[in-house]
Amino acid sequence: MPTIFTRIISGEIPCHRIHADEHVFAFLDIAPLSRGHALVVPREEWAMLHELSDESAAALGRALPRVARAVMAATGATSYNILQNNGALAHQAVPHVHFHIIPRFPDGSGLGIRWDARALDASEGAALAARISAEMARG
Ligand code: 5GP
Repeated sequence: MPTIFTRIISGEIPCHRIHADEHVFAFLDIAPLSRGHALVVPREEWAMLHELSDESAAALGRALPRVARAVMAATGATSYNILQNNGALAHQAVPHVHFHIIPRFPDGSGLGIRWDARALDASEGAALAARISAEMARG
């Protein structure tokens, strides 16, 4: 079953398209948090960011600043958030990787953020960093 974003990319479902290249497709979010709220999506259909091929990930990295520049220029926004949700617990509703570009305006429209910061325990931090970097070394 193709995701709703694959159906948008194929043209089966209409959208307000803002960019398309070999690997990446971008369009306006149907339920924007603010004016210019856009979605940047790989054509490759994976649910989560860590599943992407290097080729697709690199193309997204190239496209994101370009789409952000265009959204800022078109809306006049000077601040914005990039949001990328992975998994239901992380508020992901559509199981196809996507980056939100969400302009923030003085009227308060944009992404609301709850940031419940805690102190990082030094020994726990050291152990965790060592474990994660060992995983990185495994590729
Ligand atoms: P998530 O919570 O998965 O990160 O966000 C999914 C986003 O996709 C939501 O902001 C939602 O408004 C958007 N969306 C869902 N269905 C459609 C659609 O059919 N068209 C467009 N343009 N956006 C959609």
